[in-house]
Amino acid sequence: MHAPMRRSFSPDRCSFDGTSPAWHMACKSHTPANYPAGRRRGTVRHLVEPNYVRSTVRPTAFPIDTLIVGQGLAGTLLAWELERAGQRVATIDARTRGGASRAAGGLMNPLTGPRLAVSPDLARRCEQARIHYEHLAAQLGQPLVEPMPIRRLCQDAVEQGRARDMRHPWLSVWQHTDTRPDPFHAPFGSLDIHQGWRLDLAALLAGSAARWAMPDQAAECFDWTAIRFRGQGVRWQGHAVDCVVSCEGAAISENPHWHSLPLHADGGESLSLHLPIDLPGAISAGFTLVPLGRQRYWLGATHHPGRAVSGPTDAGREALLNALAARLRMPLPIEVLGHCAGTRMAPPDREPVLGRHPRWPWLAIFNGLGSRGILRAPDSAAQLAQHLASGAPLPEDRDVMRYAHHLAWT
Ligand SMILES: Cc1cc2nc3c(=O)[nH]c(=O)nc-3n(C[C@H](O)[C@H](O)[C@H](O)COP(=O)(O)OP(=O)(O)OC[C@H]3O[C@@H](n4cnc5c(N)ncnc54)[C@H](O)[C@@H]3O)c2cc1C
Repeated sequence: MHAPMRRSFSPDRCSFDGTSPAWHMACKSHTPANYPAGRRRGTVRHLVEPNYVRSTVRPTAFPIDTLIVGQGLAGTLLAWELERAGQRVATIDARTRGGASRAAGGLMNPLTGPRLAVSPDLARRCEQARIHYEHLAAQLGQPLVEPMPIRRLCQDAVEQGRARDMRHPWLSVWQHTDTRPDPFHAPFGSLDIHQGWRLDLAALLAGSAARWAMPDQAAECFDWTAIRFRGQGVRWQGHAVDCVVSCEGAAISENPHWHSLPLHADGGESLSLHLPIDLPGAISAGFTLVPLGRQRYWLGATHHPGRAVSGPTDAGREALLNALAARLRMPLPIEVLGHCAGTRMAPPDREPVLGRHPRWPWLAIFNGLGSRGILRAPDSAAQLAQHLASGAPLPEDRDVMRYAHHLAWT
């Protein structure tokens, strides 16, 4: 009745089945000659390319329809949607500010939370998001999405009871893993989730920087006080800009125009590891373990509701490693390869926050993606791009105007 997992557990494998340097690549791979004719106006790159070719000095000023501050998931998807709408777009990102997108594992797990509920709407949105990223991958010329079966290890008897009764085409029936030779303890059994996938965020952000990052500015912190008014738009460092969009994630708290929005922080940390096992899919067990290839894994994530994180901590590292070790049937040598921290931002109603500032029409925001940014970013970016490019109305439940009273005096 339920489709079997594409890759089965195998006993013998002891497992179950941007930045500025990229600018020159952008110039090479997207010269006007190989860029679709209808899109030539779509990026600023073509306007400044001759400067790069002749010298490495700062390019002369050029017009930008939309300048995007912050090139994480939100800034990247917005840049793409605006380019598709025919705009000249540039991004700027201060790598020193960390960023949730660089800490995230990129896993799209359709079944999260203790209730184990899968709504038809969620199923549709997961599939739409996957198709969206596949399309972007084709545009950036690199694969971004891979199927990722997920094994959820039940946490306790309550979850076990729910899992036993679950019937959904995405799930295999609950099973007791004592019968399976895998490296994890699962005293309450597990569910196999077939429709998970992983977005390669590192590749996405590198591709995005190559395509949209401002030359010379790519790793700089945007100075909001350096903006000068110019008619309907503004001037910034000599460039005429129609609209500046803050996609700053947790750094919104330092933005002079948007800091009073009710966006709540939830700091988190993640590790990259080497583990001497070959898992063909992710493990979800309070922690999430995602295979990255060649016995490398992403392990995440901690949560600190109400608190932004400023960087990786020893406590975060220990919490993650202890959670993993507690589930392993036998001790394994774990080598930590990397450690990241980022902060998820969400408003009280947990919907993204999009739109223009009520007082400054040249200023807009895209934030509040929360802990499921991969799912929420695509349609939010499309809605905001249509709003900025052609005045299409925003859905009320995502429009920043629902929080306009917080902005009245900024
Ligand atoms: C540990 C962790 C794990 C996660 N795992 C998942 C997951 O598996 N699946 C999922 O769907 N979601 C996950 N999330 C949530 C997801 O990462 C976020 O929803 C999403 O990345 C938010 O993207 P963003 O672009 O809004 O913010 P960010 O990714 O934080 O990007 C903001 C960017 O703006 C830049 N910036 C800020 N201010 C300035 C300035 N003044 N000038 C220049 N640059 C600036 C910063 O450098 C940063 O790069 C995770 C989050 C964390 C913290």
